[in-house]
Amino acid sequence: MAEQRRLVRSGASQTLHSRHLTGHAIDVVPLDPKTGKGRFSRALALEVAAAFYAAGQDCDVPITWGGMWSQFEDTPHFEIPIRGH
Ligand SMILES: [Zn+2]
Repeated sequence: MAEQRRLVRSGASQTLHSRHLTGHAIDVVPLDPKTGKGRFSRALALEVAAAFYAAGQDCDVPITWGGMWSQFEDTPHFEIPIRGH
């Protein structure tokens, strides 16, 4: 929670109710195979999201992708939504 408060203060997160806090969210960034550094390209993020949605369907697990959020686009973010939401 202390880390989440820090992230909200810095603007890196918008909520103190993050699904990260309960272990229901992860952040994923494709790495450049040459440099090992993250590549923050929307096209690559879409490929990752497609893989997550396909895996979610295969495993019958709902997936929410932060790249679909209208108020705060968060392309690295994937979470399992709260049941009923
Ligand atoms: Zn996240």
